[in-house]
Amino acid sequence: WDAQDSSAQEEKIFVAIRLRPLNERELAKNDVSDWECINNTTIIFKNTLQERSLLPTAYTFDRVFGFDASTRQVYEEAAKKISLSVLSGMNSTIFAYGQTSSGKTYTMTGITEYAIADIYDYIDKHFEREFVLKFSAMEIYNESVRDLLCIDGTPLRLLDDPERGTVVDKLTEVTLRDSDHLRELLSVCEAQRQIGETTLNEMSSRSHQILRLTVESEARSYLGAENSSTVTASVNFVDLAGSERASQTLSAEGCHINRSLLTLGTVIRKLSKGRNGHIPYRDSKLTRILQNSLGGNARTAIICTMSPAHGHLEQSRNTLLFASCAK
Ligand code: ADP
Ligand code: MG
Repeated sequence: WDAQDSSAQEEKIFVAIRLRPLNERELAKNDVSDWECINNTTIIFKNTLQERSLLPTAYTFDRVFGFDASTRQVYEEAAKKISLSVLSGMNSTIFAYGQTSSGKTYTMTGITEYAIADIYDYIDKHFEREFVLKFSAMEIYNESVRDLLCIDGTPLRLLDDPERGTVVDKLTEVTLRDSDHLRELLSVCEAQRQIGETTLNEMSSRSHQILRLTVESEARSYLGAENSSTVTASVNFVDLAGSERASQTLSAEGCHINRSLLTLGTVIRKLSKGRNGHIPYRDSKLTRILQNSLGGNARTAIICTMSPAHGHLEQSRNTLLFASCAK
């Protein structure tokens, strides 16, 4: 991979599917796998139970990963190039989309770790530039934004900055010492999220988590660089709320619970159909926060995770439908 090889041209959203293995609970119920990846790009419905269907049985994406693919492989082939474009000054976002228990957190955690290792590896090898890395982390629950690096729990406001666009007011941004420092902060975030899970029943399946790494770099002045302007870009690792919420009708919390996920779907659909016309970024907190890292010159990958189990057929079809619209 070469940091300079990414052109400034707009690219389509990269869409991948990851099928996880059947888990113990599914195997105990004698559930069977409905889906099979027949090559690198096509996933088919196996119709094992003679289910009659008017829906398509084969779906093609930029990349599909079967149950035997490792997270390393998913990273290398679907997320590496896009996450590392931050080093050449381009904003990017990697999403994990899918129903609860389909493997979003499993996949995103691994991808984030591999990307961080590669980013630090690159920095170590490019001494001609000076890099400053900053990290922030937030969670959106019921259209309320929470700082995952600050325990006091007050909701954060979004402000419009004439230069930087939408900013999250008072969000903690930590300047990183090294990759170990970042790993420490990641475990703080994980703990924060787990507190939410136990106190607020199933919160993590209803909340979106955004981990944001901002890279600032400048040519080292003693090397006689003429133009030493600072280049700044961010990469966002987004573990979305369970997609089953998007297809449910009004929940106890009211319509807010779905707004970010539904708006994301609309924004992605519009972006994938060419970038003319109005993109409703402002309709939800998630899309406002990610506006600069979604569309325009930004790079985006969506990894849609799926359970293969027949018991999840309905949700799996919804996930494939979402993925098809993003292509
Ligand atoms: P989600 O975040 O979508 O709710 P998780 O990532 O928590 O789902 O995954 C649910 C469970 O399945 C976890 O125990 C996780 O370790 C396991 N799992 C998910 N994907 C895979 C995979 N590809 N291979 C093995 N285990 C997986
Ligand atoms: Mg999860």
